[in-house]
Amino acid sequence: MHTGAPVTGTEFDTSMGPHRFRNNQRMVPASEAAWKLAGDNGMLDIRVDASNGQNRLRDVRTGHEFVNLASCSYLGLNSHSTVVEAGVTALREEAVTGLAMAEFRIRLEAARRLEEELSELFGAHVLPSISCGVLSAAVLPLMASGHLTGTDPLVVVFDRFAHFSLNFLKPIVADESLVLTSPHDDMDFLEDVCRKYPRVAYVCEGAYSTGGLANLHGIKALQDKYGMYVYMDDSHALSTQGPHGEGYARSVFRELDDRTMIVASIAKAFGSTGGIAMTGSSRLFDFLYRSGPMGWSQGLRTAAIGTTLGSIAVHRSPELGTRQRQLAENVGIFDRRMKDRGIRGTGSHIKFVPVGENEWAVELATELYRRGYYCSAMFFPVVPRGQAGIRLMLRGDMTAAMTETFVDTLEDVLDGFL
Ligand SMILES: *Cc1c(COP(=O)(O)O)cnc(C)c1O
Repeated sequence: MHTGAPVTGTEFDTSMGPHRFRNNQRMVPASEAAWKLAGDNGMLDIRVDASNGQNRLRDVRTGHEFVNLASCSYLGLNSHSTVVEAGVTALREEAVTGLAMAEFRIRLEAARRLEEELSELFGAHVLPSISCGVLSAAVLPLMASGHLTGTDPLVVVFDRFAHFSLNFLKPIVADESLVLTSPHDDMDFLEDVCRKYPRVAYVCEGAYSTGGLANLHGIKALQDKYGMYVYMDDSHALSTQGPHGEGYARSVFRELDDRTMIVASIAKAFGSTGGIAMTGSSRLFDFLYRSGPMGWSQGLRTAAIGTTLGSIAVHRSPELGTRQRQLAENVGIFDRRMKDRGIRGTGSHIKFVPVGENEWAVELATELYRRGYYCSAMFFPVVPRGQAGIRLMLRGDMTAAMTETFVDTLEDVLDGFL
């Protein structure tokens, strides 16, 4: 019983959680030393002048110029004049930064037009939101409880490597239904679950954040055989693939039905800010607009509506294909020259170079930075323990020659390193 005496730590020690899905007490200290080393090496909080683009960022404090290989703007659309100007124009025309209220009550006509144009571009019903993470937070608990399928609750299987914005929701989803974690991209595990339970949903990525692609045909086969619901986050492949930039997932999940939802951030290759959900069913939309974080506070900001409309215009132009092809060429160059080096992400623009210990990853990233390339050191809990490394992303606004020069440098650094 609380007696009115001051609350002390020891008195409440027993209130530490059951840690069924996460444990900050254990996870946070595991990477502290690596973060400190990264900071000490000058690899964090770098402040830049970006006016010469991602291929020539300039550290304003040291004057050091470098190529940014940690950006998710895989096509360079974040600095495309059409995209930037559309944001400015939208702000001028609407004369309001946003309505600061839930969109299901009142929204700008431009927001409705945006929904229509996105749907037309991607050939699916598209629900836009302020971020992809917010969409997942709104959708996954309702998917688990059966409200998207009109059924009893679904057993929800998360791929072990699913993005933090998905994994983070496990405790909430587990309050609605049974949650399981599958080994990465393991179709046998998934099929066993489908045999055992009548209603299953699989939560995964299309192109994984730490390199590698989902087995789309395997997933689709299980959907066809067992009616499995698929919730796929294709943030890293939207815009970079497909005739209209519809992404990697849509190369197999072409026609979306009411058992598939594909979400993606539009703050990456798409070059704007926000997130989208693509579904086959318009029926869901009124409902989802009202759910959880979709209705809490801010709707789409005016500038975001503008830049997204601008990016849609670029997606409809031949320029999309030009930049996609350059990206594919750069991936080809990298894969051809770096094969046999144990680098993850063949065929993908996201590469993960495993080195092992956290500190080694920081040292490798530091040396690359010294030579003019910023790549991200990554360690537990983003990747499994003892499997630290660097992540780097190729872009379609890099030339083939730049890619070759980068590979020369990477080879040289890795040879000196190992
Ligand atoms: C970046 C990323 C997100 C987060 O997107 P936001 O729009 O910033 O919320 C979600 N999922 C994946 C796979 C990502 O890479």
